[in-house]
Amino acid sequence: MSDKPIYDITPFTHLDYPGKLAAIAWFCGCNMRCIYCYNSDIVFSKSGEYTLEDLVAFLKKRTGLLDGVVLSGGEPTLNDLAPLCREIKAMGYMIKLDTNGLNPVRVKELVEEGLVDYIALDFKARNGKFGYITGSSRFDRFADTLDYLIEKRFDFEVRTTVHADLLQPEDINMMIEELKSRGYERPYYLQKFIKTSNNIGDIDEPSQAFDVSKLDDTLPIIWR
Ligand code: SF4
Repeated sequence: MSDKPIYDITPFTHLDYPGKLAAIAWFCGCNMRCIYCYNSDIVFSKSGEYTLEDLVAFLKKRTGLLDGVVLSGGEPTLNDLAPLCREIKAMGYMIKLDTNGLNPVRVKELVEEGLVDYIALDFKARNGKFGYITGSSRFDRFADTLDYLIEKRFDFEVRTTVHADLLQPEDINMMIEELKSRGYERPYYLQKFIKTSNNIGDIDEPSQAFDVSKLDDTLPIIWR
């Protein structure tokens, strides 16, 4: 691991951690290569601007001004987060983890020790499209993380980025079925792909429409 694993720090947001004022730590590197990913600079970076100590020092100065910290990226669970989270929790912060779910062992470690308070888990695609969209063949690991969080009744959300050329309502309905069959009953967050100046697959706006009316309504769906 680089001695500067944090690509950047967003000092203040009220948009990312539900109901909280939070800073965001963007961790370098990722174990996926999602076609639509617009954080390619972060995904391909091996070293960033800040050390873990820099983040702790930054947070020390912000105690009383922020409620929480979001660990995002890239994929933060590529790093041994437990020691960092212990320090952050000792300062009284809430911690949200953004993860693609490929590291169930690290997620379990953090949850079991009470080192994270909220998790946003990306459900990238149904199993048949998972490899194509993410570049990873480890749907099983994502499923392990999902099953674990459901079984623990942990405070978490599942979310999916929708690009209509990659995922159609039929795919999302299959994903809803999968979530329900595993016992997920919480809101399912969908977010529309946003075209930026660059993304990993160099894709454009979808060439076809996404017909929201075809979506199954057996889980509460919230668009962001
Ligand atoms: S969108 Fe995919 S490639 Fe980009 S940071 Fe998230 S998991 Fe990694």
